[in-house]
Amino acid sequence: MSDDAPTYGFDTLQVHAGSRPDPATGARQTPIYQSTAYVFRDAEHAAALFNLQEVGFIYSRLTNPTVAVLQERIATLEGGVGAVCCSSGHAAQIMALFPLMGPGRNVVASTRLYGGTVTQFGQTIKRFGWSATFVDTDDLDAVRAAIDDDTRALFCESIANPGGYITDIDAMAKIAQEAGIPLIVDNTSATPYLCRPFEHGASLIVHSTTKYLTGNGTVTGGCVVDSGTFDWSASDKFPSLSAPEPAYHGLKFHETFGPLAYTFHGIAIGLRDLGMTMNPQAAHYTLLGIETLSLRMERHVANARKVAKWLEDDPRVESVTYAGLPSSPYYSRIEKICPRGAGALFTFAIKGGYEACVKLVDAVEIFSHVANLGDTRSLIIHSASTTHRQLTEDQQKAAGAAPNMVRLSIGIEDADDLIADLDQALSKATA
Ligand SMILES: *Cc1c(COP(=O)(O)O)cnc(C)c1O
Repeated sequence: MSDDAPTYGFDTLQVHAGSRPDPATGARQTPIYQSTAYVFRDAEHAAALFNLQEVGFIYSRLTNPTVAVLQERIATLEGGVGAVCCSSGHAAQIMALFPLMGPGRNVVASTRLYGGTVTQFGQTIKRFGWSATFVDTDDLDAVRAAIDDDTRALFCESIANPGGYITDIDAMAKIAQEAGIPLIVDNTSATPYLCRPFEHGASLIVHSTTKYLTGNGTVTGGCVVDSGTFDWSASDKFPSLSAPEPAYHGLKFHETFGPLAYTFHGIAIGLRDLGMTMNPQAAHYTLLGIETLSLRMERHVANARKVAKWLEDDPRVESVTYAGLPSSPYYSRIEKICPRGAGALFTFAIKGGYEACVKLVDAVEIFSHVANLGDTRSLIIHSASTTHRQLTEDQQKAAGAAPNMVRLSIGIEDADDLIADLDQALSKATA
């Protein structure tokens, strides 16, 4: 598609955005540019590239043509101005915070987050002198109170994994705006097909492309997407973007690149110095996956609704926390935040507690017992004994991963087969 293309629908963009037939060969599918470096036309060209006066390929730690297509595709689907792909979702989270933070600075984050993010923010980022303050994002006064002079970002998930929780992104964005800091939304569980955080006021989005965007459980990856709307120069809070950046011979990113400042910083400093680069093979698998994103998400959501409803009506089940069920306290947020559905991840509690949960994951046949989500295959995990094991019981409950709960990631198989599998496994688990 040409750059001045009219605005196309989501289904068209997920197939075409960012890609054109290969100019060298005419190859229609995006080639895997398995090359570490790119030949400069001449010394002047090389100098212009290194000065960021001209955009082009230098070295694949920074940019790669296959990865660039994926970056443009994800940015387009999210409605952002730019994106930087990384080696994993967790890498993307560090990359997202990196231009904003510094020693003594903090991020205010929702308690309802992916377990690995709670550990990364609660423990590991302290090694950089950063810290996180966790708050219940349904308590807006608590969110406001948690923000102090050293806060540099507010962080939440759109559809929070694994507790069947939908964040009121508009309310979070308003608080972030009042505080003069960006709202970062992890949109992994929703994908841009179900939720578009920028339309609700978010400034930045992170993804684990490992999940639904790739969709087939093949490669890890992550992405940071910039809306291009945050004014980095409105205060002196973000010197890496607004003031001369010592790590790039005093370049002022915001003044020089305007709305693309954050994306350029992510490549020129973030990828250059942290090196959490996505490789072109991974980008290839993710590009293949994204072509069918809307089709898969529709089936994921339809199956999740059926399975969740069946579980809710089953006497062996204590509760189901799927925001797509009218019984969910977050059902009313769907229309505003994710009108095409509440995703395909949810938890349910079974009678018989921890022991019955462990038996259940051993008894399923179609569902795979794995620490992953967002695959075409249906997946099951007992979070309390695996992904959320490092957390205290209070943290587990806050994250929606109590010991008597099992998490499902509903795939795109026949819903009736998934229900039959859970039926037989529940019989064994609660016998
Ligand atoms: C998986 C996941 C991550 C971490 O992504 P990786 O690709 O595994 O590093 C972050 N957030 C959410 C919501 C996830 O599901």
